[in-house]
Amino acid sequence: MFDQNGQLPGEFELIAKYFAPLSEGYPGAFGLLDDAAIISPSAGHDLVAKTDAIVGGVHFHADDPADLVARKALRVNLSDLAGKGGIARAYMLDLILPETTTTAWLSAFASGLAADQRKYGVHLIGGDTNATPGPLTIAVMAFGEVPKGRMLRRNGARAGDLIFVTGTIGDAVLGLKALDGECPALKAEAAASLIERYRLPQPRVETGPLLLDVATATIDVSDGLIADLEHICEVSDVSAAIESKKVPLSPAARQALTDDPTLAASALTGGDDYEILFTAPANAANRIDQISQSSGTPITTIGRVEKTSRAIETRVTVLSPDGTPLKLSNKGWTHF
Ligand code: ADP
Ligand code: MG
Repeated sequence: MFDQNGQLPGEFELIAKYFAPLSEGYPGAFGLLDDAAIISPSAGHDLVAKTDAIVGGVHFHADDPADLVARKALRVNLSDLAGKGGIARAYMLDLILPETTTTAWLSAFASGLAADQRKYGVHLIGGDTNATPGPLTIAVMAFGEVPKGRMLRRNGARAGDLIFVTGTIGDAVLGLKALDGECPALKAEAAASLIERYRLPQPRVETGPLLLDVATATIDVSDGLIADLEHICEVSDVSAAIESKKVPLSPAARQALTDDPTLAASALTGGDDYEILFTAPANAANRIDQISQSSGTPITTIGRVEKTSRAIETRVTVLSPDGTPLKLSNKGWTHF
């Protein structure tokens, strides 16, 4: 494939040149020279698997730097594993490349993966490569491990639990708006830091595994804070109230919302945060402080879990500073 344009080597040379080196150090990958890979979790552990695809023009801009696109494709999956308390070990990569892809792009893409493999201790163990007349599409499937039977679930939130979130919320969606010219008053430095959060998620790999003993329900925030909290409420059969003023914002996001207060709803519903949203009993607050310190990650209490008999769409209430519920027109990102 690709040969007709003289732009890329054939499929097997491409795999050997750009991807086989990324499998070094993982014996079960067989140097990407076999049909399948073998993954063996450590004794006493379950294998946790997750796949997520990102599509050019939908999840990233087609002209975003290739190394950042690669790292985002990997990191959105690592975020899910971290949110489940898992430690990532390996991943597979399905690449659907436009016929116009160049070797310079592929080389930058592979170097982005190499950098994140070192950062997160994971290896490429296989995948598939195809050409398309359509948009660049990258699917990663990531594999991690958790102590047997202990993967953190969405379904354990109980009335009276507190609701916590790592890091800050809203940066990525505000970064996307800044890229699209929708935050004209924002200072360049603040815009750059928000755009960085959009392009390059920071999965909470240090924090997730520490939550195994304390969280009752977890989810990583990819659809939007409210929508993802609703997911927890649905499968835990509870409601939730969060206080808008407690939702943690970065200095850059604060600046964007000061410039344009109408962006506040976007910050709560925008998505792509890749923080961990979780619930835990109120008496666990001290332990969560310790987890925050030992993982070097801010963790903020934003609300409380409540009993419910309400319809799913109304289970999350966002309270404004004066205690009245806010109306949000769009609770989060949905594709359909
Ligand atoms: P098959 O013909 O059995 O579908 P392929 O010829 O597509 O297998 O792939 C050969 C080997 O290269 C396999 O080990 C496969 O996992 C690996 N591979 C193919 N594409 C990629 C990719 N984009 N990233 C990593 N490994 C890949
Ligand atoms: Mg085969």
